[in-house]
Amino acid sequence: MFRLKGVKAVEFSGGGDPLLWDRINEAVGLCTTVLGKKVGIITNGLALGKLSDRSLKHIDWIRLSLNTLDTGKDIEMKRGIETPDYTACYIIGRKTKCIDIDVAVSFALKHSLPLRITEDAIHGADIGVVNYAINFTSDLVFYTPSIYSPTPSCYMAFWKPVVDWDGWVYPCPSLCLSPDSNASLPRKYRICKLKDLAEWIEDTEVYDLGHRCEYCKYSSQNSFLSQVLQDVKYPEFV
Ligand code: SF4
Repeated sequence: MFRLKGVKAVEFSGGGDPLLWDRINEAVGLCTTVLGKKVGIITNGLALGKLSDRSLKHIDWIRLSLNTLDTGKDIEMKRGIETPDYTACYIIGRKTKCIDIDVAVSFALKHSLPLRITEDAIHGADIGVVNYAINFTSDLVFYTPSIYSPTPSCYMAFWKPVVDWDGWVYPCPSLCLSPDSNASLPRKYRICKLKDLAEWIEDTEVYDLGHRCEYCKYSSQNSFLSQVLQDVKYPEFV
């Protein structure tokens, strides 16, 4: 069904690390070999060993959250010709210290990982540490500010819906990051059950779902889509 509807890729991510799910290898196999989709995984990296060689061969990319290293635990990657592209990210929080940045950058350089550093846009970050991190900018390490503005619309359900463990589909992966969501996916945002998603996409004309979350990671995408979807008299000349 999803193949017919043009779904291109599946991304496994938290809350809770996706590699803790005991059927992750099965799910990767279903997405890649049966459905023929691209697969990406966002993980803290602690359970990378749970991914079978077969899964590693088929996963396109894995993004490692290097905040794991703050805990003193190590991340062990299997790398070879047929392993995914690895990238890394690090979120500076209010308690982050400069030494944490040193550790994350050293890890990234040691493993030749592109590392994106940004700050916790919701809870805030130590500005001294942010300035310290900016100094590490290089070909592999870059800092991107977490700037967000109120979203003018809510269209992401038609581009990047998210499915929770309960089988319900929600409008986007940024929803649980918004402070007004209380780190969860509130019921009022439910769209339909996963089994009905293809039908929903088929039967529903793209429209603004009307949500205006306090934090919307997709505000610029929503803004762009608002403009693209605007009715104009002469679309031929747009
Ligand atoms: S407003 Fe933004 S964060 Fe909220 S559901 Fe819509 S796209 Fe997601």
